[in-house]
Amino acid sequence: MRLHHDRRRNDRKIEKQNTILTLMGMLWALPLTILGLILAFPVWIARGKAYAVKESTPALLVRGPVGDWLLAHHPFGPMTAMAIGHVVLAERKGLSRTTLVHELAHVKQAARWGIVFPFAYIASSVWALLRGQDAYWNNAFEVAARDAERRA
Ligand SMILES: [Zn+2]
Repeated sequence: MRLHHDRRRNDRKIEKQNTILTLMGMLWALPLTILGLILAFPVWIARGKAYAVKESTPALLVRGPVGDWLLAHHPFGPMTAMAIGHVVLAERKGLSRTTLVHELAHVKQAARWGIVFPFAYIASSVWALLRGQDAYWNNAFEVAARDAERRA
């Protein structure tokens, strides 16, 4: 009885710590999230939709015709979805569970790395290229996001 009670109290403590870490991550990734919101705004305003994703990592999911166009014309090649800070831009035609998990992994990375994240991401691509590997497929952040997909 007592043990059970203590465990519940401990669970609450962990929950509180997780909330604080989540808030710190959101603050740390805020410059990226603002950029994501600037990009998401025209997507949302032009017959788009925005949804709050309430998972272990909170995110704003935005979809619309403008988003489809942006993703299709991504400088790295056509994408089904992309994360910018806590904003996830996804195609309207079907967002799979694995794609969402993949993008939320990138949101978590942004929360961990903050404003340094885009530079760390590019550095990882350059590192892959220097080793004769693929800049996208062998990027450490992409490898980690694919691992998260497999775990889900
Ligand atoms: Zn990815």
